[in-house]
Amino acid sequence: MLITLKKESRSLEKALAGRFRKVPHGERIVYIVDGKIPEDLLAELDIESSKETSRSFKLASREYSEEATRVRVGEAEFGGPKIVICAGPCAVEGHQLLLDAARAVKDAGASVLRGGAFKPRTSPYSFQGLGEEGLRMLRGVSEEVGIPVLTEVTAPEQVSLASRYADALQIGARNMQNFELLKAVGRAGRPAVLKRGSSATIEEWLLAAEYLLLEGNWEVILCERGIRTFETATRNVLDVAGIALTKTMTHLPVIADPSHATGRRELIAAASRAAVAAGADGLLIEVHPKPEIAMSDGPQSLTIREFELLMKEVKEIARAVGRCV
Ligand code: PEP
Ligand code: MN
Repeated sequence: MLITLKKESRSLEKALAGRFRKVPHGERIVYIVDGKIPEDLLAELDIESSKETSRSFKLASREYSEEATRVRVGEAEFGGPKIVICAGPCAVEGHQLLLDAARAVKDAGASVLRGGAFKPRTSPYSFQGLGEEGLRMLRGVSEEVGIPVLTEVTAPEQVSLASRYADALQIGARNMQNFELLKAVGRAGRPAVLKRGSSATIEEWLLAAEYLLLEGNWEVILCERGIRTFETATRNVLDVAGIALTKTMTHLPVIADPSHATGRRELIAAASRAAVAAGADGLLIEVHPKPEIAMSDGPQSLTIREFELLMKEVKEIARAVGRCV
């Protein structure tokens, strides 16, 4: 049971004898209680709302909030009528490249710049990211171009550092169940993009989101980025039906990352169109001014020109499903 009160209630807490969790939501306090609360106690409380859900992920569930949650990153608003486009290089590689990418994606209609300074790479020999220097470049370019920035954190100790430079933090697929990282991002005071683990079920993904919410961070954006199957022709398989289904299960915005889902530049526009048609609230796309020299994920990075074309196609699909870009 989920009970929302205007303020904390000592008598409720005493009666529940520790068998509850509580979390602030805006001005209110939500109590998450296992089982029922005695009627006489309920009558004493100044209850704003009381909800039941059979879901394991309680705060993230649609039963908790029928209304879609909107999450702001700079001027961009996820979960509203507008489909928010986040674009930029996989990794921050240098100031000029990032600046060129930022200007181009903004001109083409993107509202958030992406770029990793801490890169989770399969091989330890691959480029690992520029760390704090990369974060500084992100902040500089963000100010120069006037676009908010999203960057990945891979360990709890990076969270406060990254929060000083970035407008939003990404938890990558490999870290979806890094629970200490989830808790740290839950306390960071920054919106979070939570990617689905490549072998995670939707329920596990939403339970990971629940960790963020339970720490009081309600600014959570879910990102479907492809799951692992027997197929090897594409890097992953974009779970298009999963996007539509997840939106029925949660009030949180759901975006799609067609770059990591396909791993192949030539498939990204098709995957983007499908995701938007399925109800995605945004797209996260890797774009590089010179993909052939990219230090990570070059084969799935769009050129500026390809990104401009993709934006046109996505706009048409968005219009067809009653949304805009
Ligand atoms: C990324 O966004 O560059 C990334 C590493 O994504 P994922 O965690 O989805 O693999
Ligand atoms: Mn990448």
